[in-house]
Amino acid sequence: MDFTPSADVAGIYSCGPTVYHYAHLGNMRPYVFADTLRRALRWKGIPARQVVNITDVGHAVADSETGEDKIEMAAAREERSVEEIASYYTKVFFEDTAALNVQPADVYPRATEYVPQMIEFATRLEELGYTYLLPSGLYFDTTKSPGYGTLALLDLEGQREGARVEQIEGRKNKSDFALWRTEEPGVRRVMRWNSPWGWGAPGWHLECSVMSMALLGQHFDIHTGGVDHRELHHVNEIAQSEAYLGDGQPWVRFWLHNEFLLMNNAKIAKSAGPVPRLAELIEAGYHPVAYRLFLLGGHYRSQLDFTTNAIDAAQATLRRLAGRVAALRPLPAADTYDAARESLPPGDEVAAAYLEKIDAAISADLATPQILAALQESLRDPGISAAGLRVVAAAAEALLGLGLAELDTREVDRRRSAADLDSAEVELIERKVAERTQARLDKDWGRADQIRNELEALGVQVTDTAAGPTWELT
Ligand SMILES: [Zn+2]
Repeated sequence: MDFTPSADVAGIYSCGPTVYHYAHLGNMRPYVFADTLRRALRWKGIPARQVVNITDVGHAVADSETGEDKIEMAAAREERSVEEIASYYTKVFFEDTAALNVQPADVYPRATEYVPQMIEFATRLEELGYTYLLPSGLYFDTTKSPGYGTLALLDLEGQREGARVEQIEGRKNKSDFALWRTEEPGVRRVMRWNSPWGWGAPGWHLECSVMSMALLGQHFDIHTGGVDHRELHHVNEIAQSEAYLGDGQPWVRFWLHNEFLLMNNAKIAKSAGPVPRLAELIEAGYHPVAYRLFLLGGHYRSQLDFTTNAIDAAQATLRRLAGRVAALRPLPAADTYDAARESLPPGDEVAAAYLEKIDAAISADLATPQILAALQESLRDPGISAAGLRVVAAAAEALLGLGLAELDTREVDRRRSAADLDSAEVELIERKVAERTQARLDKDWGRADQIRNELEALGVQVTDTAAGPTWELT
């Protein structure tokens, strides 16, 4: 990773959720990705400030420029107020991200809190001559934006010729977008503000430019989002922001986009029906972090196919990792590369080499699959010292965020049976059971109890029978 922040603190803006429905698994990928980026910056000793917006107004149906607001539609459907809808789905979003070990952003601005600033922003663009007014709202003229659409890597002529392009009376170019959506005559919006262009609501793209500049400064380092934003939303954010700033500088230094989640090899539609939510995965017996592990098992710029087999494999891996790392706790502090280096036992070349592997992987555009591989390899390596292994596990955990410092294997999967264990796990359990039997024969009750506790931490219950001890998974 070749990155130095432009200020003392790297500013990160991540496009956040529209809070009118439950987020499905695919919707969660951008937040796990942005969390990985933050962990990577911390690893490199770079302080960061992250802003994630909450879109609680202005996102029209099918990303169009006109038409009903998604939140108002949801309020009507669920017979709740728009405020109830927004606060309920915001709460669910926070619960889901917390369950995925996504560290909270520094600020979660709500679009409804920034409408006056959005009106000022659009007024400035109007003064600069970038806009034109139609009965349906104030539009940004994209032909006045040099380099419009560069980010999308698409040719403008061919862009958005598909079904998503709506006919708007008087719009000069298909790519022009609404800065302000004026109420149609006779239609009174629930969420409405007065503006120089009449009563109405801001266009969807405006909030990200306004809130990021308000909270991170006019220019900042990194903007993240799903790859679906690269073609339209981010292109429009750039056009209006660079027009507003007018300083000839790129608005944002780096744009990072995560790829799509596929479902059984099919692309997930935006408002998908059958894609599960995290809560449904949990109900089905999966640990939420198994989904995080599944995501990190692929590179963020690769499409990932969500299948039952894939999530089962992630769950089994998580259980094995938690079981192995449990024996190494407590883990030392290794949140940064420097702290990890300092924690290494002197002369432990094997552990040092794993640490270098982990650092090289995160530096190579956040290659989380390689970090996972290095961790797994180190846990099997007979040549590494226990103290060195602790540091390697702590370093991998700091970047992967799987909760290995405290995760109890019993929490990971309540449905497992002994048949799910691999031979190394069975060997470890049987060795501990035998040690406990020996301790009991030696009448070393303290030692026997200690081993029983260790086994319980692995989710193993020992029962003493006349024929000797037996064990089962709890
Ligand atoms: Zn955005």
